[in-house]
Amino acid sequence: MPKREIIIEPDPILRKKSDDIENVNDQIRKLLDDMLETMYAAPGIGLAAVQVGLLKRIIVIDISKEEKKNPLFLINPKIIFKSKKMSIYEEGCLSIPGHFAEIERPAECHIDYIDYNGKKKFLKANGILSTCIQHEVDHLDGKLFIDYLSKLKKDIIIKKLLKHKKETKKVIL
Ligand code: ZN
Repeated sequence: MPKREIIIEPDPILRKKSDDIENVNDQIRKLLDDMLETMYAAPGIGLAAVQVGLLKRIIVIDISKEEKKNPLFLINPKIIFKSKKMSIYEEGCLSIPGHFAEIERPAECHIDYIDYNGKKKFLKANGILSTCIQHEVDHLDGKLFIDYLSKLKKDIIIKKLLKHKKETKKVIL
């Protein structure tokens, strides 16, 4: 399974809305496998297709801490319920390397989605899984966790990411 390159903010594609999948075929399953491999290698606990440059409503998640992997594949996920109760986690993002911030989100969410085999499913999530799902669904709508921060904090992070991008492009011969 080949790994894919992860797109780093700022990049206009990360701000675009992803499209629904009409048909879960082998091509989509191959993409899910590649995304999972890319996420494990990063390493990360969630990855949306837009982060590897494809505007498709596809997410892979694995919050298991043990050696035993427990991947969750979400196709066309729709958040149908968000609790009033909130929780705060320190979030990071594979597209925003090296930066973390405490973000408050609904503590529980319920989603409808399509699984790896094309079956309709329903899931109730709380704790870190709830935060992770909301973070990844935001990606599908062109939203990043830094959008929840003050403009000042967000600008500082984007400036640093830009600087880092320029530095990594420099080649000394
Ligand atoms: Zn992210």
